[in-house]
Amino acid sequence: MPKKIFNYGRQFIDKDDIKSVSSVLKSDFLTQGKLVEKFEKNFSKITNSKFSISCSNGTSALHLAFKSIGLNETECVIVPAITFVATANAAIMCGANVIFADVDPQTGISERKNFEEAYNKAKNKGLKVKAFVTVHLNGQSSNIDEIYNFAKKEKIFLIEDACHALGTQYLVKKKKVKVGSCEYSDIATFSFHPVKNITTGEGGMVNTKHEWINQKINLLRNHGIVRDQNFFKNRNNGIGSNNTKNMWYYEMQCLGYNYRLSDISSALGISQLKKLKRFIKKRKEIVLYYDHFFKKKSKLLNPILKKKNSITSWHLYVLQIDFKKLNIPKNIFFKKMRDLGINCQVHYIPLNKQPFYQSFSNDIFFGSENYYNKSFSIPLHYSLNKKDVKFIAEKCIKTVEDLTKNVCR
Ligand SMILES: *Cc1c(COP(=O)(O)O)cnc(C)c1O
Repeated sequence: MPKKIFNYGRQFIDKDDIKSVSSVLKSDFLTQGKLVEKFEKNFSKITNSKFSISCSNGTSALHLAFKSIGLNETECVIVPAITFVATANAAIMCGANVIFADVDPQTGISERKNFEEAYNKAKNKGLKVKAFVTVHLNGQSSNIDEIYNFAKKEKIFLIEDACHALGTQYLVKKKKVKVGSCEYSDIATFSFHPVKNITTGEGGMVNTKHEWINQKINLLRNHGIVRDQNFFKNRNNGIGSNNTKNMWYYEMQCLGYNYRLSDISSALGISQLKKLKRFIKKRKEIVLYYDHFFKKKSKLLNPILKKKNSITSWHLYVLQIDFKKLNIPKNIFFKKMRDLGINCQVHYIPLNKQPFYQSFSNDIFFGSENYYNKSFSIPLHYSLNKKDVKFIAEKCIKTVEDLTKNVCR
């Protein structure tokens, strides 16, 4: 057994987090107290967003986003073939259809031309496209201004699945724009799962710049229930609304969900957000240190292409190896790494290859196949020290070299 096990990602929890959470446990409210709002406010500030609505996880954030724009059975959404299944699943949960867009084989990201191609395909099939979802894979921003301009021209919503990219900024004509500010999108969604850049255990957030979407999502998050009397002035439905002074009165205006975030989770979110700058700085340092090793010591392993217009808050460290050309069985590489205590992962298997989605498309996505075949993630998280990073990098290089030699013999 190896001495130390390294997973591709993990949370970092300190005394302040524990203090923050335990004070909620001693208070009157475990959920629906004051901390949810405070977390949302702090999150808005950090992401430069007009509105932030917290929710139970990144998947419910996506579901709320799609529901809020009225996505339904007659419509479809365009989603990158390389992403976590939840990006597409949330659209299916609205009864909608999903069309996949190919990705840039070097970054795994769907850019404007990929969306254009998928959009034309959808239109030729007579489908009504309601939204594009751009995924800032690994933390690198897509060229979102270009995608947004195209979406706006075609009157399509643009939703950012920003689950990887809390803290990332992108450059538009030398101006820095924050992911989640929705300057070039309608909605952005985040996840606070323990592997993400900050955690609340489980948790999510929806950012938007539109007041009407903010209102709708607040409604959908809590069973479609309204208590604010300003929303039902002058009602007369015989159950007490005529007299809005009735203290017990509330009304359900649409079918909603219980997608609320608790105060326990929000307390953790608040203390984690305070550390975001530190988290990002450390992640950037680790990425530079890995890059330095791989560039100096190996031609077989290539760090993923760094986009020039993305000031990236890295979620994953992705390496690319041409396993096929080098005749290295990927599975054996993964096994040898695991035996050394290093758990690699693939982000992600193309969605169109999943049994559930196979019937959605017969197309071959060359960019996505190519990205999938070559790419894998090695450990990147706050708790890694320089020695760990050096150990992991050296083992990667040595394992690949050994495997190529075995083949030659
Ligand atoms: C993590 C993640 C999600 C889902 O978030 P959960 O909080 O796990 O529901 C969705 N999309 C992407 C790209 C993710 O990385």
